[in-house]
Amino acid sequence: MSHVPTSIDFRANSQRVPPTMAAAVQKATTKFLGTRATLVEALGDDLWQALRQAGHEVRLHAITHLDHYLVQAERAVTKAGGHVHWARDAEEARRIVLDISAKHRVKLAVKSKSMASEEIGLNQSLEAAGIRVLETDLGEYIVQLKGMGPAHIVVPAFHLSKEEIAALFREKLGVDAPAEAEKLTQVARMKLREEFLNADLGISGGNFLVAETGTIVMVTNEGNGRMCSTVPPVHVAIVGIDKIVPDWESLAVLLKVLARSATGQKITCYTSFISGPPRSDAETGPREMHLILLDNGRSRILGSPETRETLLCIRCGACLNICPVFNNVGGYAYGYPISGPTGSIFASQILGGKAAGGLPFASTLCGACNDICPVKIPITDILLHLRHRVVEGDDVEGAAAPYTLRVGAQAGSVALGTTWLYRMGSQMLKRLQAPWVREGWMAKLPGPLSRWTMSRPFPAFAADFRSWWRRRSGG
Ligand code: SF4
Repeated sequence: MSHVPTSIDFRANSQRVPPTMAAAVQKATTKFLGTRATLVEALGDDLWQALRQAGHEVRLHAITHLDHYLVQAERAVTKAGGHVHWARDAEEARRIVLDISAKHRVKLAVKSKSMASEEIGLNQSLEAAGIRVLETDLGEYIVQLKGMGPAHIVVPAFHLSKEEIAALFREKLGVDAPAEAEKLTQVARMKLREEFLNADLGISGGNFLVAETGTIVMVTNEGNGRMCSTVPPVHVAIVGIDKIVPDWESLAVLLKVLARSATGQKITCYTSFISGPPRSDAETGPREMHLILLDNGRSRILGSPETRETLLCIRCGACLNICPVFNNVGGYAYGYPISGPTGSIFASQILGGKAAGGLPFASTLCGACNDICPVKIPITDILLHLRHRVVEGDDVEGAAAPYTLRVGAQAGSVALGTTWLYRMGSQMLKRLQAPWVREGWMAKLPGPLSRWTMSRPFPAFAADFRSWWRRRSGG
C-alpha cells in the first residue's frame, strides 16, 4: 500500500485551495526571495552567473555519465562497509525498506526530510506493515500531525501560521504552547528526543552522493538529519540516481548555489557527510547502513534529449518561490510532493502523461523559473516539450490528451495557419457565440470548451482587427 498518486487533476485541486493560501504562500516566498537576492547581489552578477554555469556543467556531466559514477559510488560504499541496493521503481524501493525492517524487527522508524521517500509513498507502506513512522524535520513533523504531506520541497509547513501550529499542538499533542516559534520548536524537540532514542530504524534522503568516496551528503538546517542517521542501530538512505556528483570539487560548487537559492544562506546550519557505517566498535553510530539507489523513471527521463535536464535539479525550491502560479495556489494543488515548476516537469514524466498530463500546463511560461534556477535548467522549454508530448505524443510516450482535445488542437492549428480559413472562422464564431455571450464574456461554454470556463470566463469574439481597421480608416 502506498500513496503514490495515480491521477492528478491540477485544475480541480486548484479550485479546492483555501482562499487564505495565496497570502500565506506569498508572505513566505517574498521572504525567501529577498534573502536570496541579497546574497546573490553580494556575490556580484558575474560570479553568480559563473557559479550557475559551473553548476549546470557539473550536473549535466554527472547525469550523462551515470553508468560510471553510480558504479564508482557503489564500490566505495561497499568498501566502507555499507550495503547498496538498486531500486528500479517505487515498489521495489518500498520492498527493500520493508525487508530491512522485517530483518531488524523494526517497530519505530524516524525519518529526516526526504523527497525520495515521499515520491515512493514510503510512510504508508511502513504503517501498513505495522511500523510507526515519525517525521522529525520540524516542518514535516507539523504536516504529519495535520495528516498531510509537504506543501513546499524545502519548507514543508511554510503555509501555516504560528497560531495554527500552536492550535495543532494543543489538539494533537495536548500541549498548550504560546504561538511563538521558539516555544513551539521546544515542544517538538522534547517530543522527538525521546522517540529518537527508542527508534529501531533511521531513514534519510541525500542531497548529493559523491561518487569518488561514496559519501551521502545531507544539507539541512536542523539536527534531526544527524540524529536519524546516527542514533538508531540501522540507517537507510534513499537517494535518487540523479543525485550523484563526481567528486568533492563538484560538490563545492553545488553547495554554494544550493543554500543561497533555497533559504538565502551562505551555508546551511548542518552539512553532513556519511561515508559508511562506523569502522570499529569504538566508533558510535548505526551498526548497519543501507543505501538505496532509486531509479523510478529517471532512466526514462535521461533517454529523452529534450527533457533530460529535468534531472539536473538540486531541489532548492527557488523556482517555486518565484512562480506566479505556485504563489497563487501553493504546493498541494500539484497533487505531488514535489511541486511548482520543478514538480511539474518531474512528476509528469515520472507518472506519465495519462496520470499527470495537466501539470506541464500549470504554468504561465513567464520564464522566471529559468532565470532563477541555480543550475540553469531550461524549465519552460521542457514544459513546452511536455505539452507537445501530452497532445501529440513523441518517442517516449503516446499522446495522453483526450481525443476531442487533440482533434480540436489540430483543427485550431490549421485554422490559425490558413488565412482564408481564419477569416471565415472568426466571422462564423462571432455569429455562433451569440447564445453564450453576456456583456462581452462567455461564462459557461458547452462540451470540451467547458474545461476553460470552469476556471475563468472566455472573452467574446469581437470584430477582427482588419474590419476594425477598415472601419477606422473609412475604407
Ligand atoms: S528546477 Fe532549479 S530552481 Fe527549481 S528546484 Fe530545481 S534547481 Fe531549484
